[in-house]
Amino acid sequence: MSFCKSSRQQAILDAASELIATIDLEQRLLYLNPSARQLLVLPHDLDLEKERLTVKDLHAPAVYRKLDTEIFAGLLEGKGRWEGELEFRDSNDQPIPMQMTIILHTDEEGRPLWITGIGRDLRRRRRLETQRRLAKRAFDHAIEGLIVTDGRARIQHVNPAFVEITGYTAEEVVGKTPRLLRSDHHDQAFYDAMWQSIADKDRWQGEVWNRRKNGSVYLQWLTITCVRDVQGRIENYVSIFHDLSEMQAKEEEIQHLVHHDPLTGLGNRHLLSERLQHGIRQAKGQEEKLALLIVDLGHIQLINDSLGHTNCDRLIRMQSAKLKAKVQEADTLVRIGADEFALLVEDYSSLHDISQLANELKEVLQEEIDLTEHRVTLSPSIGVAFFPQDAETPDQLLINAQAALLEAKKAGRDTFRFFDQEMSQEARERLKLEQALRSAIKGGGLSLSFQPKVLLESGHVYGAEALLRWCHPELGPLSPGVFIPLAEESGLIVDIGSWVLRQTCKSLVSWREAGLSLPRIAVNISVQQLEQEEFPDWLEELLHEYDLDISLLELEITETGLMKNELKALMSLARLKERGFRIALDDFGTGYSSLSYLRKLPLSTLKIDRSFILDMGDDPVSLSIVKTIIQLAQNLSLDLVAEGVEDSCQAQQLFDMGCPHAQGYYFYKPLIEDDFIQLLAASSS
Ligand code: C2E
Ligand code: MG
Ligand code: MG
Repeated sequence: MSFCKSSRQQAILDAASELIATIDLEQRLLYLNPSARQLLVLPHDLDLEKERLTVKDLHAPAVYRKLDTEIFAGLLEGKGRWEGELEFRDSNDQPIPMQMTIILHTDEEGRPLWITGIGRDLRRRRRLETQRRLAKRAFDHAIEGLIVTDGRARIQHVNPAFVEITGYTAEEVVGKTPRLLRSDHHDQAFYDAMWQSIADKDRWQGEVWNRRKNGSVYLQWLTITCVRDVQGRIENYVSIFHDLSEMQAKEEEIQHLVHHDPLTGLGNRHLLSERLQHGIRQAKGQEEKLALLIVDLGHIQLINDSLGHTNCDRLIRMQSAKLKAKVQEADTLVRIGADEFALLVEDYSSLHDISQLANELKEVLQEEIDLTEHRVTLSPSIGVAFFPQDAETPDQLLINAQAALLEAKKAGRDTFRFFDQEMSQEARERLKLEQALRSAIKGGGLSLSFQPKVLLESGHVYGAEALLRWCHPELGPLSPGVFIPLAEESGLIVDIGSWVLRQTCKSLVSWREAGLSLPRIAVNISVQQLEQEEFPDWLEELLHEYDLDISLLELEITETGLMKNELKALMSLARLKERGFRIALDDFGTGYSSLSYLRKLPLSTLKIDRSFILDMGDDPVSLSIVKTIIQLAQNLSLDLVAEGVEDSCQAQQLFDMGCPHAQGYYFYKPLIEDDFIQLLAASSS
């Protein structure tokens, strides 16, 4: 029986989407329907008879072997039919997995005639399976929680992340609605708006507070989308969410760091500025008053330098705790600088309240502090400015409170001051000047003059005093009488003093290199420098660095300065003397120096204050003071210099009385370095 088809059969075969192929018993292809030709990428008009294609041409060798030896053999042995997966190869050698049914056709006597194969392309199904597998993996391994509900919002699936975040197991929630996760953070209007958005846009996204199984509430970022069927009916809702609480905690931590001082746990400048803005806005609206107090602990830098960072940190923490204990919960206490705190008091009842508060703060800060090995007492200052009387803006309020603080410091510390308009101009000027001085230390504008000291006997220059000069960028040269006290008050004197000493060393080195014989240079030292514990070591190291002998330097300390803070400075002086430094007591006679006090000081030189020299001619008291000082120096075996000698008469008189050395305009004014070098050169030759 030959293979032939009716036209009806032909039409069916042509229309079938399955692959249909017929082969004879020699495995030659007799028929391939259009779908098969398309699938195998064969020309639709391919003449099978002519091309003599066989089954072998449609499969990879291994597949063909299986087909030939197992499948066809099985069919011919009487099985009649085979079903299974079989891989074809198209004309481009691409594999095509197929689900095949292979049938053996026989005649009436059961003799085999031909074989037909019908197959379905499995590629699409495979792709879908892969996609489904991937989707499942994504669903199971996502860090986001996932909920799939049906169209009536009943939960069908949840993923492991959902279980982890919410604490519910899948069994506990399947069949229920996500309503069981609701916290009471949102009202019905919130959920109505959410559902409206889903209805309108098929999607909603936002922050939602939900409740875990254990009752705790957490913030999540939630996206809900809906899946519609072909008719547009909602089949599923898919919710994806991630837990924001961890991010929120990070965010809060960052906010805390930005707004707080790590040492004391108090707020910082940022927080103050926010509270000031908020406070002023609110006070304006409600006609309330504000008071801003700025508290300076007093000379913290000295503690830092002498007792070390750890002690200083402890001290700041102790003082901040005392302040905290004194202020109301509603007020804002922040740390705005190393030793500065600000306190914003909102809506106090009277000025008296504030002055009482300032007094109390001052008193607790003045109490003696026990730092295990050391006991220290601080001298706090407090400045206060008020809103709205003193300032209308946060910045201005802060500036004015700062100006008041400066006044309190100027008044000798251990006190507080209210801001008043008149002082503000002066205080502002001072702040500006201090700022300029600070940048002069860093960036230039400072220089040294040298005022020679002479032997009265011969007029020979044996040394000089280094005197600091500052040329202010706008105001021009300023007298040390103006900026040295400012530097003392602000603590800048320590840096300035270091600069002067280093500069002196540099000058000495350059003179040495120029072949000049080196004079002894006296440098004025502030008590604040002496109070630095490491000062003697530092100074010795400095001279070593420049390879200069200790005898080339003399340190001038003023009598009045020394009396302020005896002990620490005295200890430094003693250590300096031990190492061989010469120490001169400057402006001698202006403080009260008892003989016993003088004996305590490790001195090498006295400098008679220039006021006595000035008055010596007319005022017998001054003259006798000078005489006494000369004798005193002789008795104590101290060197002696008379300051401010302005005429020959004074010089003669001093010489006659036995004063060996002098310094003053009569001999030389302070000289700029170049002029001083010329003088040195002249006296060296
Ligand atoms: P001082 O240490 O007593 O310096 C002497 C001051 O008297 C200098 O004033 C000098 O120019 C001035 N003078 C010298 N001879 C005469 C004179 O015959 N007649 C008059 N009327 N004045 C004379 P200057 O340079 O203005 O310094 C003033 C004070 O500033 C110094 O007094 C010293 O206490 C301080 N000072 C200057 N440089 C430094 C420094 O580097 N460090 C520190 N801590 N203080 C300094
Ligand atoms: Mg001096
Ligand atoms: Mg002097």
